[in-house]
Amino acid sequence: MDHTSSHPSPSSQPLQPLLGMTLDQLQLLCAAEGMPRFAAKQIADWLYNKQVDDIGAMTNLSLKARSRLQEIVAIGRHTPVNCQVSADGTKKYLFQKSDDPSQYIESVYIPDADRATLCVSCQAGCRMGCRFCVTGQQGFHGNLSTADILNQIFSIPESRQLTNIVFMGMGEPMDNLDHVLRATEVITAPWGLGWSPRRITVSTVGIIPALKRFLDQSQCHVAVSLHNPFAAEREQIMPMQRAYPIASVVELLRQYDWSGQRRISFEYTMFRNLNDDTRHAVELVRLLKGLFCRVNLIRFHSSPDTPFRTSTPQAMERFRDYLNAHVITCTLRASRGEDIMAACGLLAGHAAE
Ligand code: SF4
Repeated sequence: MDHTSSHPSPSSQPLQPLLGMTLDQLQLLCAAEGMPRFAAKQIADWLYNKQVDDIGAMTNLSLKARSRLQEIVAIGRHTPVNCQVSADGTKKYLFQKSDDPSQYIESVYIPDADRATLCVSCQAGCRMGCRFCVTGQQGFHGNLSTADILNQIFSIPESRQLTNIVFMGMGEPMDNLDHVLRATEVITAPWGLGWSPRRITVSTVGIIPALKRFLDQSQCHVAVSLHNPFAAEREQIMPMQRAYPIASVVELLRQYDWSGQRRISFEYTMFRNLNDDTRHAVELVRLLKGLFCRVNLIRFHSSPDTPFRTSTPQAMERFRDYLNAHVITCTLRASRGEDIMAACGLLAGHAAE
């Protein structure tokens, strides 16, 4: 399915995007253009609440102000270039990166009984190099701007139905933290979408300095990609373990209060005979002891070009039961969108799709 658009394509949009600007930035823009201060609030309302796709439609701004804005800025939205729909209703959207249309990024829309979650990307490719991840094997092709992150949310047909956003698509959010923080500010601010930060989860492999900054500045939920509790074994599949050991990441997390509404969870993809036996479950319990958290076990989607294999359902259930019996809330995550390569670790951003 192709959602063609009336919006200009990224390549014909060299003007600075309004999308992604905070109220402070809009106030600076208005001041620089001799517009009244309250115009910034009006622009934010048109942009984030009414979600117009044309500056000309901002009818409570003077004609002069609108035509000046049209000379110097653009809304900054561009619709996806492709959409694949899974048998289970999951949709994978493909976008061009606005400053480099040769690069593609993906978002996954996951409807559920009472939720509609969008999994967004924050980078084209990724430099973390996790061995089991299709994105990680592609290398790094650039950070997404705040506008490109938000565009994934604003430009899909289901935009108004979304109940949750997870930063678990392509890229490592802590490696593009300024733009991720600004995007979450727009989503949560009263002048923006006005969402509770509890509806947003940001994932990370655990880049400690950036994670600390994120924990200090944001109230969004955090999901740490753990995948193996043993340092030497984790390093084999996640090279960032060398710089930021998981034990140090957990130490940092222990310094924050998780008994309130903000949640910490750990993502644990299950690989057959690699991280799914009792030895790993025992060590995981030891590592997380006393930390108020949950563990999500994720079924790995095996493909012929990866050496990793899917754990058996029995191994996964055994692992879950061990954790639950040792006071760690643990769930087996249902797999979604596998048939369109939309599941965890399968996002590749292929234009050919
Ligand atoms: Fe990057 Fe996440 Fe893939 Fe690791 S799993 S390479 S952090 S996208």
